[in-house]
Amino acid sequence: MTTDAISTDAIIVGAGPVGLFAVFELGLNDMKCQLVDILDKPGGQCAELYPEKPIYDIPGLPIVTGAGLVDALMKQIEPFNPVFHLSQMAESLTKTDEGKWRLTTDAGTVLEAPVMVIAAGGGSFVPKKPPIKGIEQYEGKSVFYSVRRMETFRDRSILIAGGGDSALDWTLNLQPLAHRLTLVHRRDEFRAAPDSVKKMRELAEAGKIDLRIAQIVQLHGEGGQIEAVTLKPDEGEPYTVQCDTLLPFYGLTMKLGPVANFGINLHQNLIQVDTAKFESDIPTIFAIGDINTYPGKLKLILSGFHEAALMAQQAFRYVHPDRKLRFQYTTSSSDLQNKLGVQ
Ligand SMILES: Cc1cc2nc3c(=O)[nH]c(=O)nc-3n(C[C@H](O)[C@H](O)[C@H](O)COP(=O)(O)OP(=O)(O)OC[C@H]3O[C@@H](n4cnc5c(N)ncnc54)[C@H](O)[C@@H]3O)c2cc1C
Repeated sequence: MTTDAISTDAIIVGAGPVGLFAVFELGLNDMKCQLVDILDKPGGQCAELYPEKPIYDIPGLPIVTGAGLVDALMKQIEPFNPVFHLSQMAESLTKTDEGKWRLTTDAGTVLEAPVMVIAAGGGSFVPKKPPIKGIEQYEGKSVFYSVRRMETFRDRSILIAGGGDSALDWTLNLQPLAHRLTLVHRRDEFRAAPDSVKKMRELAEAGKIDLRIAQIVQLHGEGGQIEAVTLKPDEGEPYTVQCDTLLPFYGLTMKLGPVANFGINLHQNLIQVDTAKFESDIPTIFAIGDINTYPGKLKLILSGFHEAALMAQQAFRYVHPDRKLRFQYTTSSSDLQNKLGVQ
């Protein structure tokens, strides 16, 4: 193990519903997990794309919302103490001299484990970029698409762009820290939760933030440091607002991303697996959920749950080669009930 690497039994790329349930199945078989997700919260598509929509085809739950399912899964895996590395992209995968996998994230986290579980769904969520000429030269220096540490933005003159939940949440969270905060949105209608919109309007009325209804048309600055932006309202002349930080929140889109460079055999951007173990062409690398493909594959949450159960059987053989795997029911096995803390 490298000195600063975190050692575990299984590294899971993707904390969507299937990655979360994999923690449960691996946990029942005595394997500890660390999960990496580029989102700032667990739940994958359920949390990001349809938290309030009802799902009707989860076995045993006649109706549950996307967010409700994620909450239930988080509760179910609590006994296994999974460790989450959120807002981090799983970027590169190499092998150690001892034959373990070493995964490095874009935040510099290094994880090592004998087993890799790719539960990357439709790919990593990446921000939609605003169509503003020359924005790339400011990215990572004064233009950011996510907030990893709020302290980074203390005393800054921040301009937040967007009208959804992320734009409004960060307006409310960063306002107390910021030197000055401007929220710009192209329409005076917001898609965010009504309570956030109400709080934002109260701050605007109290003069604690500036609310501008306009579009960003130009950035001004030098050497990657933004100094001002030009805004254009629907009617009227363009004008300039001073700021040293721009946070555009224009939504997210899904791209396969770095998993494509892990050296795993892909078919149309999906990982081919066998249906007995859900293992890729590289032994000890498994793929479950929407990211995999095999004859008859259905991109449903319930398929991913089944795949996680079978994956965990084979993973056990790699992580505990000296032990015999016993098939047990949670209803009747005191061993499993001990692990779940229900005895
Ligand atoms: C609107 C909508 C409605 C749906 N309704 C239903 C339904 O009723 N029933 C049903 O069964 N299914 C439904 N689905 C499909 C269901 O949501 C997916 O099958 C399910 O989310 C797949 O789970 P997953 O864990 O495999 O992947 P995902 O939920 O896609 O999660 C994958 C996670 O991996 C992360 N990730 C990927 N690559 C990286 C990387 N390199 N580094 C860090 N993180 C990474 C992503 O950020 C993401 O959070 C619906 C989907 C949509 C969009």
